[in-house]
Amino acid sequence: MIDLFSDTHTLPDEGMRQAMAAAEVGDEQLGEDPTTRRLEEEVATLLGTDAALFMPTGSMCNKVAVSALTRPGDALVCDHLSHVFRFEGGGSAVLSGIVFEPVVTEKGYFTPKQMEAVMNPGSVYQPRTSLVVLEQTHNFGGGTIWPFDQYEEVCAAARRHGAAVYTDGARLLNAVMATGIEASLWATPVDAIWIDFSKGVGAPGGAAIAGSAEFVEKANRFKYLYGGAMRQSGILAAAALHGLEHNVPRLADDHANARRLAMGLRDLGLSVAEPESNMAFCDPPPQLGLAGFIDAMGSEGVRISQAAGRARMVTHVGVGAPDIDEALAAAERVVARSQ
Ligand SMILES: *Cc1c(COP(=O)(O)O)cnc(C)c1O
Repeated sequence: MIDLFSDTHTLPDEGMRQAMAAAEVGDEQLGEDPTTRRLEEEVATLLGTDAALFMPTGSMCNKVAVSALTRPGDALVCDHLSHVFRFEGGGSAVLSGIVFEPVVTEKGYFTPKQMEAVMNPGSVYQPRTSLVVLEQTHNFGGGTIWPFDQYEEVCAAARRHGAAVYTDGARLLNAVMATGIEASLWATPVDAIWIDFSKGVGAPGGAAIAGSAEFVEKANRFKYLYGGAMRQSGILAAAALHGLEHNVPRLADDHANARRLAMGLRDLGLSVAEPESNMAFCDPPPQLGLAGFIDAMGSEGVRISQAAGRARMVTHVGVGAPDIDEALAAAERVVARSQ
């Protein structure tokens, strides 16, 4: 099986398992797990922030960030396909009591003008927009990347309106690889930012959220409140450290593989989006429809998924260049049979 379903489907290799087995551990909840602390320091350095906090999941990073940066009855601006809005079971509405003000975009990033059109200064009657959430790369926008100038402009405009900004950087490191713009530069204009270890980094779980010392202290309070404080989390943190060292430099391979996959699908006559990172999106052959295409690829041994009405294929450390050749050969058979 060639698994292009998601970059969450990575399996820890022997080196990662050894790093996990050898990890020095302690009570994370008391701040006594040395491996977790080392990871937090490494992430704070990478992102150029005062501090960082290890978290069980990226979804919990979103919950904690929204809680730390809003009050109940506030409004949050984000793209209409963003993870914090469309997924997570409506968690931020439940836990933080916010309402969403989604911006409809094509690729997941918006202009200051689009943002201002949905923002609300707040009154006795209206929710006050106190937070803007940016997603980098944008998952359901197609693994797309905020242009850096636009990212800075949106952050500056949000501040002018008194709103905080944070970045859901589940795949920030893919954006760093694709643009050459350092992680700390993407962190500079925002109040908080987080990265996921269970995607391109290839660890079995975990994420880290970063910001000012004051933000991280607040975030830690919500992490505990939501049941996210752990114990010997160094075993997971060791996997993340190993992944940061070994799997991040090779993200360029994932991007090259996604591009070759997309171009191959285009050559088969399918309508594809221009890949910007480790995701290829295409329309299914019309005769098959989306579900039919996913099924047909599955029976050819290639697992793919769907997002925003298109087929989605994600490359990762478990997918090599020969797998792309095989996936394209499978797609060729599927397309030929559908005609
Ligand atoms: C995967 C993802 C999340 C959630 O992260 P988990 O670690 O799976 O909880 C949040 N935002 C984006 C953009 C994601 O792709």
